[in-house]
Amino acid sequence: MKSESIYLDYAATTPTDEQVFNAAKPYYTDIFYNPASAHFLGQKANAAVEKARRQCAQAVNANADEIYFTSGGTESINLALCGVGGGLAVSNIEHDATLACAQKLSANGADVRYIKVNGDGVVTPEALTEALGERTALACVMAVNNIVGSVQPIKRLAAAAHSKGVLFFTDAVQAVNSIDIDVKDWGVDMLAVSGHKFYAPKGVGFLYVKRGVKLNPSLVGGNQEGGLRAGTHDVPAIVAMGEAIQKAKALRTEYVSHVKRVADTFVKTLDCGKVIECAEKTDEIVSVVFRGKNGYIDGGRLATALSVEGVCCSVGSACSAGSATPPQTLLAMGVEHASSSVRFSFGRNTTVEQAKRAAQTVNAVVKRF
Ligand code: PLP
Repeated sequence: MKSESIYLDYAATTPTDEQVFNAAKPYYTDIFYNPASAHFLGQKANAAVEKARRQCAQAVNANADEIYFTSGGTESINLALCGVGGGLAVSNIEHDATLACAQKLSANGADVRYIKVNGDGVVTPEALTEALGERTALACVMAVNNIVGSVQPIKRLAAAAHSKGVLFFTDAVQAVNSIDIDVKDWGVDMLAVSGHKFYAPKGVGFLYVKRGVKLNPSLVGGNQEGGLRAGTHDVPAIVAMGEAIQKAKALRTEYVSHVKRVADTFVKTLDCGKVIECAEKTDEIVSVVFRGKNGYIDGGRLATALSVEGVCCSVGSACSAGSATPPQTLLAMGVEHASSSVRFSFGRNTTVEQAKRAAQTVNAVVKRF
């Protein structure tokens, strides 16, 4: 591997922000107490957890008692989908965590239906309504897609589900950096977030559950999180997530224009490949289908060749790395030659210069194929 690497895989994970890390540090060493302990030292740790809960709530315009801490996006999704108990309608561009939950519930006899995406990467309210059945209890559509970056019309989708008496869940794991999340304005019943996508550590996230929505717990044991999620809190990670979500909100405008500059430079410098366009998308994620002299290039082989040259990108999500099938999102959108796609994703630390150099490397590597 080249000594000077360029990381273009921020949709897989982000580094922990130093300020965020420093805020969390004392909770590993000094204030290490169990927040469930009744003594005053335990209550110090508990105060930090509750502060983080208020920070998370404020960032998505929820009430603090509607935030349930989990180990991340996958667990939040499992809790929402398995916890409702009833039929599901899920979009066919969801993350593997959602699709696998739907398959598991279907195998156990639940009525599971799929909501179609259109060629522009958009799930329309009409498609959602069409997919609902008599036994559908919950409709699920992600806020920002992790493969192409398409932004979904969540407010209109939630309204369409509610008009049929169906609850609405959104996976907002890829939305926090670029999108103003407002659970009240959007009208969602549940929303999942994962810390490591917005410069907090891995292994922490939350599920927003609107007051009044009844869920069965996935993990049972202690009475943490109101009995909905048993297990001792990861206090430092929760503290970090509270700080990180506040910082992501404060930086959002600046971040969006920075990432746009980076993405524009990357795309402008590319002299090969076809960028997958969507009706509305974030600039953080750019997926491209590549063709070489002798036909379409296997995306996995290209990503490996780029890695050797120091450019780190991915084929689909990190969770499905190694899979021989192209990303489900691209198949659902009807993208031609989907197995020739590579995903590049940008972040706070990507410079315009890196974007240019990475695109030049892509140009040179593709010419070799
Ligand atoms: N949902 C989306 C859209 C994602 O991109 C990811 C992670 O890649 C997840 C869910 C899973 O989150 P976690 O890694 O916190 O389990």
